[in-house]
Formats: sequence, structure tokens, C-alpha cells
Amino acid sequence: MDIAQLSERIVKGDRRALARAITLIESRRPDHRETATELLDSLRGTGRQAMRVGLSGTPGVGKSTFIEGFGMYLTGQGLKVAVLAVDPSSARSGGSILGDKTRMERLSRDPRAFIRPSPSQSQLGGVARRTREAVSLCEAAGFDVVLIETVGVGQSETMVAEMADLFVLLLAPAGGDELQGVKRGIMEIADMILINKADGDLKAAAVRTCADYAGALRLLRKRPQDPKGFPKAMTVSALEEDGFEPAWHEMQALTDWRRENGFFDARRAEQARYWFGEEVRHALLAQLETGAARAEMARLAEAVAEGEIAIGLAAREMVETLGRE
Ligand code: GDP
Repeated sequence: MDIAQLSERIVKGDRRALARAITLIESRRPDHRETATELLDSLRGTGRQAMRVGLSGTPGVGKSTFIEGFGMYLTGQGLKVAVLAVDPSSARSGGSILGDKTRMERLSRDPRAFIRPSPSQSQLGGVARRTREAVSLCEAAGFDVVLIETVGVGQSETMVAEMADLFVLLLAPAGGDELQGVKRGIMEIADMILINKADGDLKAAAVRTCADYAGALRLLRKRPQDPKGFPKAMTVSALEEDGFEPAWHEMQALTDWRRENGFFDARRAEQARYWFGEEVRHALLAQLETGAARAEMARLAEAVAEGEIAIGLAAREMVETLGRE
């Protein structure tokens, strides 16, 4: 495969080239991985920056409805929108909570939109690492907004937040006056909370829920990367396509402020450090599974099982072996 050619086509915004490159980064074949890494390196210097928006919510809250409607709203503004996903169920069961592009039929037909379902990998870390690379590809291809969707199950949200400039939590109107068991950690990474389904009979409950969350957000520790009024809670109706404009306006206002105040670049630099660490850790773990290291692991495991060597000492020996390889 000619990397230079593929890279050139991606930069021109060729969607088939983009799709092909994403398939390449998702491949487990070592030669594909090598090509993918070179490709990503060759695209580093495009200077293009999309707004990367992480979006999370529990199943049924209206993520696909929101992404389709909001995506159409953005393409209607002349923007190019890519939709990617980190689906933790694809790692656990090979199944999918997030479904695929058939969910967003209108958006998938929009020439300004590009939708790609979650990669399936054996571990959540793998799903996230590959999605992060797909984000860079979409950015190099000239997309203005990259939406990265995930479901509300903890770890996957943290990973999506680590590849997004802005993290949006989608919630449904609550029945009672109780916050919906949203973990504090998730509240802390949210830049915006959107209470969806603010329509019909649910509207009043949505407005109340929104006020509750606005209150809860005010109680959280103030973060330096937030201008006045953020993190923010707002209501939307994905179904009626209501509230998109104010939500988009706030996303832009927040991003502009962070850019002007250095937080945007600082965050991306911090994320680059994070993913570098993840890649190194993963590569080291993968090394344990291969060739000589694997045999040595098995040998030392037997030795500790037989009580022939202390666990700590055996572990140190193993790590030294890896260092020599
Ligand atoms: P996901 O599982 O988070 O992707 O949720 P879906 O987008 O599939 O939506 C789940 C259900 O909620 C569907 O029946 C949608 O029609 C409904 N829904 C989504 N958004 C809204 C909304 O804004 N208002 C109302 N009333 N229903 C909605």
C-alpha cells in the first residue's frame, strides 16, 4: 500500500480513502499496524483541528436521535461532521450497545457527514486507542466537528474524555427530584449536561432536572479550564430538533474561550502524553504474550508455584529479561 498516496487522498477529504485508512488502523495484523503508524505520522503536520466532542449517555437517553439531529444541524451550517464511537460492549461480547450507522440513516446519507461504528477489539483499551487514531484521521481529512459517542458505563467515558476537547453528557428527564445516580466522576469530566426529551409531557420534568443539575454543577470544584457559567446544563429535544442552536453556541463559546486562554492546546498536549503512556503500557503487555518472553513467563510462573523463587524476585527477573530483548 502506498502511504503517500493514501495520505494525500485523505487530506483531500476522500471518504473512501478515509474509510480504508480506518480499516487499516483497526487491523490486528502487525504489518498493517506498521503501515497505520506511518500513515498517522505522515498526517501529523496538516495543521487541521476539528472540534472533538465526546458524547455520553445511558442506552435509551436519545444519543442516536441527538447525534443524527444535531449532526444534520451542523452540516446544515456548512460544517463537515464525523461520528465515531467507543462501544465497551464490542470489547466484552463482540456485540454492540451502540448499534451501527443504520441508526442514523438521514445523517449517513448526508455528503457532509461520515459515520463509522465502534471498532471491535478484544479490550476496551484497544477500542479506545483505535478510535483515538480514527479521530486524527478525520481531523486530517478536514472534518470540522468529530463527535465521539459512548455509553455511560464509567471507564469508556473517561477514555472518550481523554480524546475530546469537550465532553457532553446526555441525560433524560428524571421522575423524582433525585439526581439520576450519575457518578461524581462523570459529573467532573462533563463540560455540558444536556437534558434531552424536553418536549411534550416530559418538558416540565426536563426543565426541573436541568435546574437540579445546574445546581449540582455549581457545587463542584471550580476548574481552571472553565469560563464563567461552565460546566453548563441545558435542555434539548433531539426528537423535535429543539435547542441545538443554543447548545452549539455554548460549545463554540467554551472552545473559543479555551483556545484564547491556552487551555485548548494544553489539554491536547496532556492528552498526547496520556495516549503515549497507554501505547507504551500496551506494547509492554503485548510483549509478555510473545515468543521468548512468553516462555520465560511460563518458566518463572512454575518456579514461583513450586516455591523455588520469591514472587518479587521472579517478577524483577522477568522485567529485566524484557529490558534485554
Ligand atoms: P440511545 O440508545 O441513547 O441511542 O437512544 P435513541 O436515540 O435510540 O432513543 C431512544 C428512544 O428515545 C427512542 O424511542 C427515541 O425516539 C426516544 N427519543 C430520543 N430523543 C427524544 C426526544 O428528544 N424526545 C422524546 N420524547 N423522545 C426521544
